[in-house]
Amino acid sequence: MTSDDGFNDVSNEYSLLAPGPVNLHPEVRKALALPMIHHRTPEFDKILKRVLENIKKVFQTTQEVFLLTTTGSGGMEALLVNTLSPGDKVLAIVSGKFGERWADMAKHYGASVTVLEVPWGEAVQVSLVEDHLKNNPDTRAVLCQACETSTAVSHPIRELADVISKYSETLFLVDAITALGAYPLPMDEWKIDGLVAGSQKAFMLPTGMAFISFSQKAWKFIEGAKFPRYYFDVRKEKKANASGETFFSSNVAIIRALDVVLNLIQAQGLNKLFHDIHRRAELTRIFAQKLGFTLYAKSPSDSVTALTVPSHMDGQKIRLHLEEAHNITIMGGQDQAKGKIIRVGHMGYIQDQELIRLIASLGHCLRHFDPAFISVEQISMVADEARKWLEQNP
Ligand SMILES: *Cc1c(COP(=O)(O)O)cnc(C)c1O
Repeated sequence: MTSDDGFNDVSNEYSLLAPGPVNLHPEVRKALALPMIHHRTPEFDKILKRVLENIKKVFQTTQEVFLLTTTGSGGMEALLVNTLSPGDKVLAIVSGKFGERWADMAKHYGASVTVLEVPWGEAVQVSLVEDHLKNNPDTRAVLCQACETSTAVSHPIRELADVISKYSETLFLVDAITALGAYPLPMDEWKIDGLVAGSQKAFMLPTGMAFISFSQKAWKFIEGAKFPRYYFDVRKEKKANASGETFFSSNVAIIRALDVVLNLIQAQGLNKLFHDIHRRAELTRIFAQKLGFTLYAKSPSDSVTALTVPSHMDGQKIRLHLEEAHNITIMGGQDQAKGKIIRVGHMGYIQDQELIRLIASLGHCLRHFDPAFISVEQISMVADEARKWLEQNP
C-alpha cells in the first residue's frame, strides 16, 4: 500500500495490535477449526482435567482455578458475588475505566464502597491504602486493576498485597485481565486473594471466557457471602470440577484452544513469555518517543502502551488513519483521554516485522496530519534503528 507521501508499505497484512482481543497463534487457530465434540466425552474429560491443572501454573497458585463462560467483566463480578455481602466495606482503587466499572458493580450489589480516586495515568500510592485500612480495619475487600488498560498504568500489586495481607478480615481482589500471563503476578507468593484473567487479553484466545481463583483466606468468606449469585456461584463450579465437569455446558472450543496456549506457555516457560511481551513494550516506548509521542502512563505496564499524541493532533484520527491507510488496528483513548492518546497492545502472537511496520506507520500517520512534524528521512532512520534494536535485543 502506498500512503499519501509515497511511503511504500510492502507487507500490508492485517496487524491486530490492540490491548485485546489479540492476534491468535497459528496453533490456536487450528484448534479452533477442529470439529465440535460433546463436553461429556472421554476426549473432552481429558482436556478439561489437563487445563484445570496447567492453568494453575500461570496463576502460580496451588488453589483451584475456575473457567467461566463470560467475558472478563463477568469474572470481575464473580469475584465480588462470591466474597461479599450487602453493606460490606469495600475500597475501590479507581484509576481509569475498568476501575470505575468494578466500583460500580460493587455499589450495584449494595456494598458500601469508598472510591480511592487516582489521577489517570498515575499508579496508586500504597500509603493511601495503608492509611485507609488503619482507619477502617473492617474493610472486607480492596479492589484494584493490576494493569488499568484504559491508561496503560501498572499498579504496585505486590506492595499493596504486603499491606492488605496483614488485615485478617480484608481480601485483596485483583483484576488482572491484561496482566496475568503478560508479566509476573504470582498469586500465592504475593498473597492475592481473588484473581481474574480474561481469554482475549493476555491468554491470547478469542473473547468469551474468564478465569478466576481464590486464596485460602478468601475461601473462608465464600460460604457466608450474601450477594445474590447463581450463574457465578463458585461453590457449584468447584463441585462440578471435582467430578470432572464444569457447572454449565463447557465452552469446548475455547477450552480446547486454552489447552494449546497452556502447552505453548509450558514449552517455552512463563519467563520467556514475559520477556517477549516486555521486549515489545520496550521497543514501542523507546521508538514511539523518538517519533515525537510521549508516554501517558507514569508507571507503564508491559501489556499495553499509551502514547500521548502531539497536542495539535487528534489521537482518534491517528488511530483511524493507521487502520485505513496501514491496515493496523490499535486503540484510542476513552473518556478524559479520548483524542489525547493512542494505545498499542503487546500481548498475543506478534512478529518483529509487525513492530517495525508499526513504528514506521506511526511516523507516517504523524506526517499525514502535519508534514512539518517529521520528515520521511527521520521516519526511515527511526524504523532502521528499531530494526537494529530488535536484532541486538533478542
Ligand atoms: C478488557 C478488560 C476488562 C473487561 O473485559 P471484557 O472481556 O470486555 O468484559 C476488565 N478489566 C480490564 C483491566 C480489561 O483490560
